Formats: sequence, structure tokens, C-alpha cells
Amino acid sequence: MDHQRNVSDDFELLAGSIPGERTAALTPSLRERESRNVTYLTSEFPVFWESASRATIVDVDGNRYVDLTSAFGVANVGHANPRVVRAIADQAQHLTHGMGDVHPTEIKTHLLAELVRVLPPGLDKVFLATTGSEAVEAAMKTALLATGKPHFAAFRDAYHGLSLGTLVVSGIDKFRDPFLPAIAEGTLLLEYPNGRVTSATDALARTRGTLSARDDLAAVIVEPIQGRGGVIVPPRGYLLGLQEICRERGLLLIADEIFTGFGRTGDWFACTHENVVPDIICVGKALGGGFPISAAVARADVMDAWPVSAGEALHTSTFLGNPMGCAAAVAVIGELERLRLPERARELGKAIAPRLEALTRLPNVREVRGRGLMWGISLTDAATAERAVFDALAKGVMLLQAGPLGDALSLTPPLVITRAQLTRALDILEEVLQ
Ligand code: PMP
Repeated sequence: MDHQRNVSDDFELLAGSIPGERTAALTPSLRERESRNVTYLTSEFPVFWESASRATIVDVDGNRYVDLTSAFGVANVGHANPRVVRAIADQAQHLTHGMGDVHPTEIKTHLLAELVRVLPPGLDKVFLATTGSEAVEAAMKTALLATGKPHFAAFRDAYHGLSLGTLVVSGIDKFRDPFLPAIAEGTLLLEYPNGRVTSATDALARTRGTLSARDDLAAVIVEPIQGRGGVIVPPRGYLLGLQEICRERGLLLIADEIFTGFGRTGDWFACTHENVVPDIICVGKALGGGFPISAAVARADVMDAWPVSAGEALHTSTFLGNPMGCAAAVAVIGELERLRLPERARELGKAIAPRLEALTRLPNVREVRGRGLMWGISLTDAATAERAVFDALAKGVMLLQAGPLGDALSLTPPLVITRAQLTRALDILEEVLQ
């Protein structure tokens, strides 16, 4: 395996107090200049990051942390994966930016071929973009053109991004409500079934019933496992049943695998787990290994609802197919294969499952759910979850709160995390939750 300098994975994690002096010195300038909505600043949280590699993060005061976030599910192949870094650096030597929809690059055609190769068969035509939200919007526009219908069905507590377009299919009221007057109405919200409490049969009956009230829908958009919603895993068979219902009703199925894709859940894509091939899939986050790049990929006949470009693309953007992003993504796919990271996520997930499930014996812990290296721990309330995030940080473990009410913790470490790091991080988590 490639060797990296600077950051070691040993467990003398904390160099000093957290947050340290340097973090404390930087905070006022951030507070002064950044929109106050962006960073949650308290006396205990956050810390300023200096560097990261594999599953280890180092802050500006030299404190080291085990990363159980992958920085929002991005660092599947590890932070600063050496082959990804090299691919970006090599690309940057000769072309840092191109003209997305005008003069293409060779590396773009290479990435398109690689993406189609690793995606479930039948997903053959790609729309590249930069952020997850953009990929979702490209998928939504594709579905509107392909069906001629004006509306969508989405799930309660779903997270597909925060752009105005994606708020149309958001299932989280707090993100939608302040902007309601500007958001197109007409989305049908379905209940997302939690496999811990609902059977696939019951959930499918309910979904079928709710959908039957509408004949103006283009597509159902679904996260195969809800991520930001608190890592909710639907009952086995639900996604396949949902696909059948969509086919019966002439609806397209859009799978948002921006969080679940590229090995996170123990398969290349979470849909594969149920042999579901959606009509359109959205990917992002881990695809670029830290470089912003995303894609909506559809069946050829669906994507061909777009007119042939006659000189001006109906949908594109300045950074579409950025060459450094394409180079990074090709390297990420290579690393997922070379290091067999989807299999690794599955094995590590199986290994930690009993230990995580045993946490439900603690009074603060309500439910544990997940697969591969994507887990959610639902706690009694948001204050308890926040306390756990702060306490874990102070002991050298990075965690995020999740769930629409913030009452859950999400565990999504880089797929390259060592067993020793994972064990140590879970020891600390358990200590914190006691
Ligand atoms: N879809 C899902 C499932 C996500 O988890 C996210 C990001 N958390 C997005 C879409 C939006 O991606 P971005 O933040 O890159 O716009």
C-alpha cells in the first residue's frame, strides 16, 4: 500500500486541550466574516482542520482524531488518498479547467466509460455535474423531460441537497419552510419505512396507496438508505417492490446514491443489494475523493429525452466535467477496486454490527441501524446527541449528529479505516454514551 508521510494513525491522539489555542485564535475572524448560518461555533466545538490522511484528521493545534464521518461521506478511499492526490496533481500540471459542453477532454471520456462500467448494467448515459444537489437537479430535469409529467414523489426526512431545485423534493420541513413561497408545490411525500419497525409488505401497501392518488408524477426519488435522515434502512424487499410499483404506474425511479454509493454500504451501490436498477442514479460525494464532482446517470432511452445539442446545451454548467475532477474520480474508482473497499466495508460492518447493536442496552440509546460502514445510532434527544459529539471530539473521535431532529449519531468512517482505529473509536463512543 502507498505510504504517506506526516499523519500517523497511532493513538496518542491529543496533543493538548480541545479546542486548542490556534483554533481559539482563528474563531473570531471566522465569526466576523462568514455568514453566521454556516458554522456552528461554541466554546467546545468545532476545531479547525489542518490536514488529514486515511481515517486520521489533524487539527491546527496538532491534535489527531479518528474520523467517523468521512467528512460527510466523501473520504471513502481515505483522506488525501495518495493515488487520488497524484492524479489531481498530474492533471493540474497540464489542464486545470476545460469547457464542459464545448471542447471536451480525453479524461472526461475516460471517466464516463469507468462510471458506466462500475454502475449497475443499463445505466449508460451520464450527465456530469459538480455538487450532489446539481446531480439531483439534472436527474429531476431528465425525469420531467422523459415523462412530460410535472411533479415528483419523495420521502419524508429525505435529503437531496439544499438548492432551491432540490428543496422541491426535500422531506425535511426546517430546510423548506423558510423558502416555501419560492418552492414549486406539488411534491407527494411518502413515508420512508424503517426496517426495524415496518415490514416490506406493509410499507409497500402504504406506498402503493399513497401513489394511487396521483397521475401527475414524473418520478419517485429515493435514498436507498436515508443518510442525513439518521441512517434509516428500509426493510429488505422494499426497494425492489418500489421499483415494481413505479413500473406499474409508469413512474421513473431515481435513486439518490450520493451518500450510499461507492462502497459505503458494503456493495458498490446500495441498490445492488436488492438487485434494483433505477432508471436514473445520482452519485457524488465519494466519487471525487475530495474533489467536487457528481453525476446523474440514466438508461439511454431516458437520457435521450434531452434534445441533441445544436450548439447550446439546454442544461450545463461552467465546471461540468472539470478535468481535475475527472482524473480524481478515475483514481477513486481504481482505488475502490484495487483495495476491494466495498468488500472491506461489508466485512468491517459485519464485524462491528454486534458491538453497535449491544449499545441499545444503554439507557440513552434507542435504536441502532445500518449496513457496511454506514450506521446510525438514535438517542433519546438532540441534546444527548450533541453532548456525545462534543465528548467524543474531546477524546479524539470525530462524529456527526444526524436525523431530522438531530437526535441521532451517524458513523460513516473512511472505508480504509484500520480495525485498530475502529475498535478504539468504538471504545470511546461507548464510554461517551455511558
Ligand atoms: N443527496 C444526498 C443523499 C446527500 O446525502 C447529499 C449531501 N449530504 C446531497 C444529495 C447533496 O449533496 P451536496 O451537498 O453535494 O449538494
